[in-house]
Amino acid sequence: MIAEIIAAGSEMLTPYRQDTNSLYLTEALNSLGVQVAFKTIVGDNIDHLTDAARIALARADIVLFSGGLGPTEDDLTREAVAAALGIGLRRDPLVLEALAKRFLARQIPMPPNNAKQADILQGATILHNQNGSAPGQYLDTTLFRSDGPSLRKIVILLPGPPKELKPLFADLVQPLLAATLPPRFLARRILRMALVPESTVDARTAPIYKLYPDVETTILAHSGEIQLHFLAAAGTLADAQAHVDELTEKIEQEMDDAIFSSHGESLEEIVLLNLGMRNLTITAAESCTGGLFAQRLTAIPNSSRTFLGGAVVYTPELKTLFADVPKETIDTNGSVSPEVARALAEGIRRRTGSSLGLGITGLAGPSGGAPGPDEARPIGLVYLALASATSTEVREINIPGDRDRVRWWATQHALELIRRTVI
Ligand code: ATP
Ligand code: MG
Repeated sequence: MIAEIIAAGSEMLTPYRQDTNSLYLTEALNSLGVQVAFKTIVGDNIDHLTDAARIALARADIVLFSGGLGPTEDDLTREAVAAALGIGLRRDPLVLEALAKRFLARQIPMPPNNAKQADILQGATILHNQNGSAPGQYLDTTLFRSDGPSLRKIVILLPGPPKELKPLFADLVQPLLAATLPPRFLARRILRMALVPESTVDARTAPIYKLYPDVETTILAHSGEIQLHFLAAAGTLADAQAHVDELTEKIEQEMDDAIFSSHGESLEEIVLLNLGMRNLTITAAESCTGGLFAQRLTAIPNSSRTFLGGAVVYTPELKTLFADVPKETIDTNGSVSPEVARALAEGIRRRTGSSLGLGITGLAGPSGGAPGPDEARPIGLVYLALASATSTEVREINIPGDRDRVRWWATQHALELIRRTVI
């Protein structure tokens, strides 16, 4: 079953208004197992609307119209659809009465134009609109063709205002379609990875997911995280789940420990979970990230059991004051150095008595490093260190991009370093 959505309204052919109803409708149709194959935007012109309706009826099984059900001269959807289908409109007395009542309640006389809102396609079900005057319409019809087999079409008319269209679809159209279409259950799984290039993920997983054409696979990359979304549909929930699980398991085997979560948890949550399970605590001394690492962990409820706190040590003096970084280490190596990262991690750990200490120092830009050893260092250079009682891991990374990006990715690398260390 494929659908076409027709958004009627000249305003959407200007630079000022966009058709958003079709986004909502597409999602709702997809979850019913209906693919949207075409979207059309057409102005308030009877010939254009009728043409669009004819074309849609020829190529789609379900045609949804949004807008043009109002009382004014330019509200022409009913007439256009009737013409395209070659059927008549009948003025429904009950709808007319309900319209009259709306006006009576507001104590204004009903303008004669409004009566056309009671015009219903022959054979259509009326969809009562709780949030506006124009009812929607639902028509399940068979088109008889002289040149071929007869064709079943479902035609749906919905009012344009999103506040009317959405509840009307959800409350009345969705159940009608669900009862008509074959039963369909959806199962979804999401695998999350940090810092792996999207192209690498695709190169390694495509040979696997391509073997499952009926599982919809989507790769989303955002802020140092890659998500693989798998969506399967089947006649029973168990079938859909089994299908999506089988593919997910194979991808998990391939990507192995690059995957930090397969049940929706964020990287922060996983890091706290892994530390908590081992009864480990952590603190951080942050320079270029200015507390962003602490912010990301403390955004998770109950993080205080694991993340004890930290210090923002932006100047050389504060690195010494709060994290015991020897002044000579900074003078000799500069602030943005592996030596200072190590000293920050070890210092904050020793000072606080936490199991692990994290140090972050780097150049977030846009201006370069302070005079001295940091002067020649490139923007985006970050050193991370993770200290435990027995050893300290130090990492050098180069992060391209602006200040926000460097700061965010530095914390992303830090979280991933911790996760991989305590895995
Ligand atoms: P009304 O009775 O309000 O005239 P209608 O069914 O005739 O309803 P339109 O006149 O086409 O609908 O649109 C009314 C308003 O709804 C528009 O001004 C616009 O704000 C919004 N609207 C219409 N179509 C869309 C759409 N496709 N996406 C988002 N908003 C829309
Ligand atoms: Mg209108």
